[in-house]
Amino acid sequence: MMPTREILFNIGVVETILVYALMIFPLGLLAYGLARRASRWRVGQPANRLDQFGRRLWYAVRMTLMHGRIVRPRNLYGGCMHAAIFTGFITLLAGTLLVMIETDVSVPLLGVSFFQGAFYLGFKLAMNVAGLLLLGGVGMALYRRLVLRPATQQTSGDDLLLLCFLLLLAVQGFSVQALRLALTRDTWAAWSFASYPLAQALQLLPRDMLTWLHHLTWWTHFATALTFLGYIAYSKMVHPFTAFANVLLRRLRPRGELDAVDLEGETIGASRLEHFSRPQLMSLDACLHCGRCLEYCPTFNTGKALRPRDLVLEIAGYQADSGGIFSGVLGEDANAGRFRRGRGADRELIGGVVSKEEIWDCTTCGACMEQCPVHIEHVPLVVSLRRNLVMEQNEFPPELAPVFKSLERLGNPYQNVPAERGAWVKRMAQPVPLMSEVAAAGKSVDYLFFVGCVGSYVSRNQKVTIALATILQRAGISFAILGKEESCTGDPARRVGHEWLAHQLATKTVEKLNAYNVKKVVTACAHCFNALRNEYPQLGGNYDVIHHTELISELIAAGRLTLDAASAVAQGKVTYHDPCYLGRYNGVFDAPRRILDALPGVEVAEMPRNRSHSFCCGGGGGHAMMKEQSGSRINVTRVREALETGAQVVATSCSFCTGMFEDGIGAENATPRLRAVDLAELVAASLRESPEQP
Ligand code: SF4
Ligand code: SF4
Repeated sequence: MMPTREILFNIGVVETILVYALMIFPLGLLAYGLARRASRWRVGQPANRLDQFGRRLWYAVRMTLMHGRIVRPRNLYGGCMHAAIFTGFITLLAGTLLVMIETDVSVPLLGVSFFQGAFYLGFKLAMNVAGLLLLGGVGMALYRRLVLRPATQQTSGDDLLLLCFLLLLAVQGFSVQALRLALTRDTWAAWSFASYPLAQALQLLPRDMLTWLHHLTWWTHFATALTFLGYIAYSKMVHPFTAFANVLLRRLRPRGELDAVDLEGETIGASRLEHFSRPQLMSLDACLHCGRCLEYCPTFNTGKALRPRDLVLEIAGYQADSGGIFSGVLGEDANAGRFRRGRGADRELIGGVVSKEEIWDCTTCGACMEQCPVHIEHVPLVVSLRRNLVMEQNEFPPELAPVFKSLERLGNPYQNVPAERGAWVKRMAQPVPLMSEVAAAGKSVDYLFFVGCVGSYVSRNQKVTIALATILQRAGISFAILGKEESCTGDPARRVGHEWLAHQLATKTVEKLNAYNVKKVVTACAHCFNALRNEYPQLGGNYDVIHHTELISELIAAGRLTLDAASAVAQGKVTYHDPCYLGRYNGVFDAPRRILDALPGVEVAEMPRNRSHSFCCGGGGGHAMMKEQSGSRINVTRVREALETGAQVVATSCSFCTGMFEDGIGAENATPRLRAVDLAELVAASLRESPEQP
């Protein structure tokens, strides 16, 4: 006898028709809910995200099926939990669709039945495995939400309702199967290994009771499935659609690049939903509420107002409120977790939906975006709101007023005169040429050394600048500096939303660099590096930009720098802090570590939060020039982490990081237990007095 089973067993003909008729209502609700959401996104600004479609689709499918950003070594529990639920649910859904294809297409239209034999037995096995995966995943999720309760998780009624739905569907599915097996005394019952023991036990019941119980359970299961289907578009469960779409339509530009702004446009930045782009509005609906964006967020971890997940959910809730029928009733707002302000579509986006404190808290470190499994981009959201506050409402933290004034008048945030920018050169043993001198002599250099404002004016960082210039000279690199012709790249102004000022500064620099026909740029500041490399192409500035750690690492590998064990500075235990704008934004993780490995007498001790999981020093997004208003201090938190490694030196490779660490070490009274030293300083201190020249 061929292994198979009767489809819609114990369901009469009239009931079968009813089954199909009843499916129309939840399917309609699903379609309506998805259409409502899509109509809300359409109020945003158009953005072309369909370029390189093949690449986009391949990535989205791969990420969805392989769970690439969900199952990560540091998130094994949550990742495996989601993978189990996803795999179980999708397999069961696919199984249901296959049964429908057999009943409604294959047999009646083609006269072919595939639901038999080895396929059928394999199908039974797969469905049982899938059901167990779903049960296991839901069990893990409930355990995490109700027992473990990590700080990054917030459990709403919607979260619990969805888990209950999935639990119920799985339990009902196994029960229906066991009752059918018991009723039919199925020869191949053992292949349904998960429900087989229950089927054996149920065989003790009278046949009439089994028939009635099967009928009742089948209809209950069906009703649960229909209710779940109708609820999907009005709950977090919409994420399989929206998350896939968000991954498909993600930005393909470098993560460190903020989108260009039309300074002639009607409005700069976002104060209303329609000021965001359509993909940005869609991304709000893609949030899984997983809280992974909180794990390495410096503001969440130091008790500040900004929590990136809540920022997304607050605007998503506002979008739902503004979207009309079903929004805010069954929509996201009901499930959006923590809302600190009132609800309703008549709120102001800035100040009403998102507090100004949240907007200014962000250090733009990018840890949230690195973690988000569905590629939601929090930093562009925050910067859009800042742009509007600064450019349209002239509102910003008071500490920024002198910074803006100084950047505008003097080209640096420290109120220093341009003539002093190259003053550090006088402390060099060998002269450092200016680009103007090189050009006047009709010569050229390999590199422009872009020193940056911090490296030029802040006395602590001038030592780093001198160290790097010395290294370049010792390695025989031809380079020059701009001196008083250099000005700020515009990065601090851009990250706090002063788009006009950032544009002025960047345009001036691009004109200068292009006039000197600059091809390669080296810099010791991670923020200058990111701006020059990722944002200057928007203004016609296309250069080969290299961070000093990359260049030094290459020079060491090429044997152009000889490092000596006699250096006192570089001895002992060293821990390395990955600057956000170098590591997370630009993927430079290995070069700094290669330098440390090459330094004689150095023992490297990693902090627990390292590489892409690095914890911000607190200085990005304009915060090196702003006061922390609430919570504990971010730089002190990071200093404590460095101290716990037992290191005597925290090695940095960013101008802002060095300053933030020095400040944090002072605040923690950790001098001289811990010193903040740039990698260039460590290398310069280890240079043999008479290096072998290449
Ligand atoms: S960019 Fe950094 S500070 Fe801002 S929300 Fe994301 S993780 Fe938090
Ligand atoms: S924004 Fe991303 S990481 Fe944060 S809760 Fe939503 S899906 Fe998770």
